[in-house]
Formats: sequence, C-alpha cells, structure tokens
Amino acid sequence: MKILVPVKRVVDFNVKIRVKSDQSGIELANVKMSMNPFCEIAVEEAVRLKEKGIATEIIAVSIGPQQAQETLRTALAMGADRAILVQTDVNVEPLAVAKILKALVDKETPQLVILGKQSIDGDNNQTGQMLAALLGWGQGTFASKVEKDGDDLKITREIDGGLETLDLKLPCVVTTDLRLNEPRYASLPNIMKAKQKPLATMAPADLGVDVTPRVVTLKVSEPPKRKAGIKVKDVTELVDKLKNEAKVI
Ligand code: AMP
Repeated sequence: MKILVPVKRVVDFNVKIRVKSDQSGIELANVKMSMNPFCEIAVEEAVRLKEKGIATEIIAVSIGPQQAQETLRTALAMGADRAILVQTDVNVEPLAVAKILKALVDKETPQLVILGKQSIDGDNNQTGQMLAALLGWGQGTFASKVEKDGDDLKITREIDGGLETLDLKLPCVVTTDLRLNEPRYASLPNIMKAKQKPLATMAPADLGVDVTPRVVTLKVSEPPKRKAGIKVKDVTELVDKLKNEAKVI
C-alpha cells in the first residue's frame, strides 16, 4: 500500500503570534516555522504502517514556498521515502490544496492519503474532507486509531461521549486527531540520511491547478486583553464578589 502524506509548514506552535500593525495578517518575518503538529502525527502513523509491513512506500507532499523543503526533509527524516514540493509563494487555500492533492493522487495512485485534521495557522479543517469529495473516496476524519482489517481500514474516532468505529474501503482519506500517536523525533543519522532521499519540485500549473485565492482576509485582530486577576482574603469575600460584582451566582 502506497501512502501519500500532505505536510504543511506553519508557524511553530510554541511561537507567540503577533498581529501585523496594519491588521492584514500575522507577523511572519523572523518567526520559527515547523511542520503542522497534526501532519507530524500523520507522518508518524504512515511510518508505523510501514514498520508493520502494511505500507510499502510513503510520499510526503507540501504545497508552499521553497522553504517548505525543510518540512519535507523532516518528514523524510521521520521515515517517508520520497517527497514532492509543489512550490508557490501564494497563500494556497484548502480547495486549491485539495485540487493539487487530487492531481497528485491521480499521478501516484496511493491507496491511502493521511492528512492532519487541521492546520494550526488557518484552523481550516477542510482539506481532507474536500479531497475525499473530489476523489469520491470514503473518509475517516479525526482518527484516534487506525488499523488494517482484511482489505479495509478500521478507523476509531473520538466523538461526544464515546468512540465511533468505521470500516473504510481502500482507497480512502484519513485525517489525524491529537491522540492517534506521539510522533517520534528524527535521529541525527536519519536527518543525515534524509538529505539523500529524493525530493521532486513542481509548480501548481504543472498539475493544471489555479491557486489564485478566492477568499479575502478583511482584518485580523488580537483578542481583547484580559483584566488582571485579584486575590481575595477568604471564601466569604469570594462568594460576595461572585454574587455582587461578577453576578455569576
Ligand atoms: P486545513 O484544512 O488547512 O486545516 O489542513 C488540514 C491538513 O491538510 C493539514 O494538516 C495537511 O495535512 C493538509 N494541508 C493543508 N494545507 C497544506 C499545504 N499547503 N501543503 C501540504 N498539506 C497541506
């Protein structure tokens, strides 16, 4: 089974985001960028499927600027076999990403595409679902467990108040939730080896996809500053404040 794993380069989850002074977006100059955490989980799951002898080849794909090569090298160091960078400086929206991935699926014929459930920059939570629709494939979103079950995939999803188990016919699309696994750190020898692994570069136009944005961001603003807290001297004062000032009890 061949697996395609799309990985996105985003602002590192540890960075405190700053809004640009003209409110047109967030500050990206000199900001640490990393692989989207849910994509790391997707790479890890693909590597585990390969280690179990279920997957035969893992192809990591990123759509983004030239620097997204670093994200792909991380995926290669974690265990992907080869990588494809679809290079563009445009801020590619989920529908265009899904169209590019669809074109790559047509070319590479994987049996499984495993993506993050959401990119932590745009919080879109759209690409996997759009890709499944464009392909006409089944989808298992927010997977917390992935198992091979005969010719099918068994996906466990965390839903309100319980677990839902799906049986998916291959080929299919899976998106990863936080508790699916804990991604490994790439070891130094694997980081060195990853430098030798194949990384192909192409443009969206090579795949016949127009990435012109369709959505305009009108304004980005910071959340209102929270008021500083106070210390109360005892429970009586706390109850009094909750009742008479905050009026919540
Ligand atoms: P989103 O729909 O933007 O929240 O992203 C969900 C998932 O789609 C991500 O975790 C990635 O696996 C994939 N994805 C989204 N944008 C890109 C991109 N530019 N390059 C590669 N994969 C992407």
